[in-house]
Amino acid sequence: MSEKPEFLVIGAGVAGLTFADAVLGEGRSAVIVERNDHIGGLARSYLYNDYWFDVGPKRFHTEDQEVLDFLLSVMGDDYIVVDRSSAVHLFGRYFPWPLDHRALFRLPFKVMVSAGFDLILKKAPKDENSFTEYTRSRYGDTLYRLFFKPYTEKFLQIPCEDVHVDWAKTGINRAVIDKRVRSETLFDLIRTVLLPTPVDTKFLYPAAGGFGGFCEKLGERVVERGGEISLENTVVSLTTDGGRVTEVELANGRKLSPEHVVWSGNLRALAHLLGQEPPPIRYLSTILFNMEIKTEVLQKEQWIYYGGTDTVLSRVSITNEMATYMAPPGKAGLCVEVTGFEGTGHWLDPEKLIPQIQADLVRLELVGSPSDFGAVHVEKVRDTYPIYDLDYKNSFARASGMVKPFVNLKLLGRTGAYWYNNSDHSMKMALQMATHLLKGAPMDAKDALFRV
Ligand SMILES: Cc1cc2nc3c(=O)[nH]c(=O)nc-3n(C[C@H](O)[C@H](O)[C@H](O)COP(=O)(O)OP(=O)(O)OC[C@H]3O[C@@H](n4cnc5c(N)ncnc54)[C@H](O)[C@@H]3O)c2cc1C
Repeated sequence: MSEKPEFLVIGAGVAGLTFADAVLGEGRSAVIVERNDHIGGLARSYLYNDYWFDVGPKRFHTEDQEVLDFLLSVMGDDYIVVDRSSAVHLFGRYFPWPLDHRALFRLPFKVMVSAGFDLILKKAPKDENSFTEYTRSRYGDTLYRLFFKPYTEKFLQIPCEDVHVDWAKTGINRAVIDKRVRSETLFDLIRTVLLPTPVDTKFLYPAAGGFGGFCEKLGERVVERGGEISLENTVVSLTTDGGRVTEVELANGRKLSPEHVVWSGNLRALAHLLGQEPPPIRYLSTILFNMEIKTEVLQKEQWIYYGGTDTVLSRVSITNEMATYMAPPGKAGLCVEVTGFEGTGHWLDPEKLIPQIQADLVRLELVGSPSDFGAVHVEKVRDTYPIYDLDYKNSFARASGMVKPFVNLKLLGRTGAYWYNNSDHSMKMALQMATHLLKGAPMDAKDALFRV
């Protein structure tokens, strides 16, 4: 006999947990199935020996009242307000990111002049879909060649010419979370030099448990409200009939016949279950090198981008700069991100990279001495980014076309909706989907949800 929960949610990330919490809050029943041994998905945290680590640098920022109210209803007073600070390593030096008036005068002279000419000769992009054209038109050819191109190619592992403009629009623009410090163009940069505005960019962060502390609290509320979270489990078969999913079989042998299936997991896995050719979408994955450092480190930023091709690492976050409780007093935590594709390259033997990364961190003047390194914990995180190549919209349209024939199967969140988003966007989509399925209210398209 199949069990009959009203909602079966695949994935216990921010989106799946938020959705389940919302429907449970309306007195409905929900089961969440998660392939990992832990909840939180990309928003989980890790604890080893008094050091907390997130999946890369993480902060909460939203201008949407519904999302903020939801966040605070989960966190209560258990949050801190943190001043944002990030940097970029360019031309062998550290610069504040986004680049501001302090940076302009510290650029090597030739670069400053060349970047200035770019501004004068600035042209509108010829191809509105091209990452290269968009970035060049905003930042000029010099900064494109010297930073954005090598950084993006190292990070995404595909040539910049194959990257869609939406990658720049969402990623680069989102790197600037306070409109008052936007330096998206050289013109903005110069204006900032002439008219510097004092800024005060703040974000919220859990007072305990790292960024994942939020998911832990939300997971507890899901269970308190009568929800079930089944870890280390997944779907092994889906039965469909008459335009509906009628039965779902789980890896642990359970069979369920839910009224609705909400899928926030990997779309290629879903295609396989539906017996369809997987859509041509690809997820990038990330290897995290979570490093315990026995002393403080030499930089004081929360995270730093590394564009140079002389190192495999693309970004490092200094965990104790997010919240002091993340590392023991007088010590530091470094979360080093190396991106790649699951099952290929460094993914196969990441431990081999540790000596090289440690040498780079000393050379890049982030760690004072090789003897400062303590334990290193390697975590492989699957599906961290949807790849926005030139054809990604068609590829996602094919993926969402797979579920259209089934009225009770919905796609949700960053991984399920193939969406380079932030956690607040996943929350907003989940809250809207709950109201949509419970009350028939319309849902916004992803583009509109982005405006939160
Ligand atoms: C490095 C990095 C930095 C980020 N920084 C920020 C930030 O500063 N601020 C911010 O708000 N957001 C940030 N984000 C984005 C944020 O982490 C995500 O938007 C959010 O966590 C997505 O939640 P989700 O539930 O939509 O997706 P996911 O977290 O991907 O959840 C999907 C879940 O489904 C599970 N799953 C997948 N396939 C299956 C399957 N077949 N069966 C069962 N389970 C399955 C996965 O294990 C996962 O738990 C960052 C993301 C990354 C990678």
